[in-house]
Amino acid sequence: MASCIFCRIASGEIASDIVYKDDGVVAFRDLNPQAPSHVLLIPRKHMPSLGELSADDDATIGHLVRIASQLAETEGIAADGYRLVANCGANAGQSVDHVHFHLLGGRRFAWPPG
Ligand code: 5GP
Ligand code: ZN
Repeated sequence: MASCIFCRIASGEIASDIVYKDDGVVAFRDLNPQAPSHVLLIPRKHMPSLGELSADDDATIGHLVRIASQLAETEGIAADGYRLVANCGANAGQSVDHVHFHLLGGRRFAWPPG
């Protein structure tokens, strides 16, 4: 989608610090990191939010979650623990309408989240 910032990052039109990419998934460092390691994982396919996934997206999202666990290893945050978060909708603070998962690590996180 031409107007979507994450589609434009996935296509390479907008530069980002990409840490992983394949046919289905792209992962890049968040512009405004909230932890020592903060990576965003997105499907290449434009999906506006978790609320609009279809069964066709199951394989892509499952793949994305597995890649997140791999990246936790390469980021060096797996042993101490990390958080994988997807904000959906206004109450959760979703600010980009293209499904994305935040992989956060390198510090201790509070629970419940703020
Ligand atoms: P949300 O608030 O929707 O859960 O997360 C969106 C995230 O995208 C935010 O953490 C924000 O810092 C990040 N972000 C927004 N625009 C860009 C961008 O152009 N490049 C990168 N690398 N991250 C972005
Ligand atoms: Zn998009």
